Parts: sequence; structure tokens; C-alpha cells
Amino acid sequence: MEYIHTVMETVKKRNAGETEFYQAVEEVLESLKPAIAKHPEFQQAGLLERIVEPERQIIFRVPWLDDQGKVQVQRGFRIQFNSALGPYKGGIRFHPSVYVGIIKFLGFEQIFKNSLTGLMMGGGKGGSDFDPKGKSDNEVMRFCQSFMTELAKHIGADTDVPAGDIGVGGREIGYMFGQYKRLRNEFTGVLTGKGLTYGGSLVRTEATGYGCVYFTQEMLKDRGTSFEGKTVVVSGSGNVAIYAHEKATQLGAKVVAMSDSNGYIHDPQGINLDTVKQLKEVERKRIKEYVHTHKNAKYTDGCAGIWNVKCDVALPCATQNELDEEGAKILIQNGCIAVAEGANMPSTPGAIKLFLNNKISFGPGKAANAGGVATSGLEMAQNSQRESWTFEETDNKLLRIMGNIYAASKNAAEEYGFPNNLVVGANIAGFLKVANAMMAHGVV
Ligand code: NDP
Repeated sequence: MEYIHTVMETVKKRNAGETEFYQAVEEVLESLKPAIAKHPEFQQAGLLERIVEPERQIIFRVPWLDDQGKVQVQRGFRIQFNSALGPYKGGIRFHPSVYVGIIKFLGFEQIFKNSLTGLMMGGGKGGSDFDPKGKSDNEVMRFCQSFMTELAKHIGADTDVPAGDIGVGGREIGYMFGQYKRLRNEFTGVLTGKGLTYGGSLVRTEATGYGCVYFTQEMLKDRGTSFEGKTVVVSGSGNVAIYAHEKATQLGAKVVAMSDSNGYIHDPQGINLDTVKQLKEVERKRIKEYVHTHKNAKYTDGCAGIWNVKCDVALPCATQNELDEEGAKILIQNGCIAVAEGANMPSTPGAIKLFLNNKISFGPGKAANAGGVATSGLEMAQNSQRESWTFEETDNKLLRIMGNIYAASKNAAEEYGFPNNLVVGANIAGFLKVANAMMAHGVV
């Protein structure tokens, strides 16, 4: 379609070298073809041209003092991508690979993901090339304070509400919240993923992993099966991976492999989650340490090898492009029936094509990992009402939202002529809501 081609060419020209951003935009625009064909008014309104251009991009210097008294300088980002549906909302990532192209891809995905949750949230994302690994608590605190000193000028409970992502968990959110409160002299729900003692929501820590499993449960139900007795591989061993493991296990599955950026562990008897939590959440150690206390488990260097482990269900929960065509082929050969993305864009376009062509149930990240931001939305609601809901109440809301996202994606796929293609379904369902709001707002 000429219109989509032209928009894609402009994206490449304007955002030179930002390959992850092109990849995310291309995937969405390709699958929007049937929706654009049905709505010629979108072209006249320049809707795609507007939706691929962030409303605001903030790039700033983050100087901080390390433990040796040396000044270090990082780069900070906040991309306020689209506010058609509500205040910008999306996590903050601290990882050395962060540059504007990664934050833009994540911010772009976030627009449609947030729309799918049914809550009123726009899309944004932020981060820095700071690497929290190997830093002392004091170094992390000084960095977070410096980062927030600039970011505070641009965010607010009704403007832009960041949360966590890779490298940003409860500790970092706490330091950033403390600094925001001090700078602004206000105690508001400006960040989500907060600690329970100062306005956090129960279930937020578990939400992305649990939500991904709830979504997968719906896919399995449609195939006439469930998690009971299934063998599962979960890549990563961070926040999303740990709670995907927890919920899959509660539903009767056995998780046999997990990883970090150095390598993966395989424990045919099922990976002991308490050990992983202790290593990763408390001691901040590497996953290979697991085999010291679990003699049946084996550690292998290189995280991509995890897809060689035979499984029924694969949940990539680490990072972008971690599951390529080669990994997809092995999963399919080994009889895997379902793949759901806990991470953002973990499957390459080639891998996705293979899954869809081989009738593997495939849950794209935008839909399958939306439980995290959905529960952030619930945290915002509780903060506004000065209330806190019980674990059970919040978990039930999460379960219901994931069921709704699945139904909306499945129905849109059918309506637009791509039955069972949840990539097309999630993109169209997420897009239409944003597009209709943008049309109503006029040329802004
Ligand atoms: P964490 O920082 O808690 O964990 C990240 C995990 O992924 C770690 O095991 C890490 O290993 C691994 N990892 C990171 N970078 C790489 C890499 N380049 N190659 C291989 N492995 C890597 O992050 P989260 O669990 O919060 O996030 C994981 C994914 O889920 C991301 O894609 C994120 O965007 C997405 N997501 C997160 C949400 C949330 O609520 N937290 C919400 C929705 C999506 P190591 O320790 O070695 O770095």
C-alpha cells in the first residue's frame, strides 16, 4: 500500500540508524493495512504521519559522582510519544545499550499496548545508558537523583507517569520518587511500581509475568488445553521472567529453563524459583550460580541457546530480538505449541512469520505483556482515590483485563480477515482506539 510505504520511508529518513524503531513501526504499519483500507479519512488527516512522530523527545545530560569521587556522565531520555488517550505512560530502562532508537521503539509499542488495556493512558518511554550492574546502592541512588532532577521538569501525575523496565525495579523507583517529592514538594502518584509503604499497588511486581501467563492461558484454552502438565521455557530471570515462572507453576506447569545475558540454566526437574529469587532479587548475582545448589541442573554459556531446550510453551521474557528464526525453527521442531512475549519485541520478524505459518499460538508483547502497565493504571487509580485494594481484588482485575485484551485482539483479527493472527488483531484493536481519539481532537 503506497500510503504505508511513504510513511515508512519518512520514518527511515527522519530517524537515521534507529533500527529497532523501524522494526517496531514496520510491524505495526504492515498489519494496519486492512484498517487503513477501510478508513480512507485517516490518510487525509495525516494520521499515520502523526502517530509515528513523537509529540515530544527529551534528551538530557545526567552527571553523577561514583564511589571514587570521579564524575561520570550518562545520557537520559524521555519520549512522550502520544497523549491521545491519557497522560504519557511507560517505563524507564537503565541499560548500557540504551539510545534514542530503543526508547522510541518502546514508546511506540507502548501507545498501542496502553490502548489495549482499556484504561486511559497515552504512550511514552524513558531511560538511560547507565548500567546498574556492579554499582553500589549509593552510586545507584546518586544516579537516580541526578536523572530525576532533570526528568521532574517534564513529568507529573496528570502529564507523564513513568514506571520500571530493564534495570529499574523497586530500588530505583524509590530513589526517583524520593527525589521528585523533594524537588516538587508534592506527594503524588507520579511514578508507578512504588513500594507498598508509599503508595504502591499490590500485584504490580507480579503483574507483567502473571499477565503474560493469563494471556497464554487464553491461547491454550482456544487450543482445548491448559498449563497443567506442560513444560515451559522462560528466558530472562528478571522481574517479568520470575513472575511468569511463578504463575505458570501455580497453574500446573513445569518451568525447566531460565537465563540471563550470559547464559542459561536447564533443570529437567523444574527450576526452583526460591533459589532464583534469592540470587536475582536479593543477592543480584548471575544465573549460573544456580547450579552450585542444584546438582541436576546444567548451565550453558550464551543465552540464545535456551531455545534448544524442548518445551510445550516458550515465554521470552528478557529483551528485544532474543528469539530469531533459528530459535523459532528449533522450538517448532521440538513440538512447542505456544509462544507469548513477556518482553518487548523479543521475537524477530522472521521468527514471528515462522510461528504464524506453523500454526503456533503466538501472543505478541503488545498484548501479552500489557499486564504490567495495566496494573500501573490500577496503581494510578488507587493513588487518585487514596485507596489500596487487596491482592485478590487487584489480581482479579488483572485477570479480567488480560482476558479482554485477548478477546479484543482475537475479534479484530477475525473481523479484518486474519483469523488467529494476534499480531494483526492486537495492532488493529490498539490502533483504532488511538486513531479515533486523534481524529476527534483535530489537527494536534
Ligand atoms: P529486568 O531488568 O528485571 O530483567 C531483565 C532480564 O533480561 C535479566 O535476566 C537480564 O539479564 C536479561 N537481559 C537484559 N538485557 C539482555 C540482553 N541484551 N541479552 C540477554 N538478556 C538480557 O527487566 P524486566 O524483567 O522488567 O524486563 C524484561 C523485558 O520485559 C523487557 O523487554 C521489558 O521491556 C519488558 N517489559 C517489562 C515490564 C515490567 O513491568 N517490568 C512491562 C512490560 C514489558 P542480565 O541480568 O544479565 O542483564
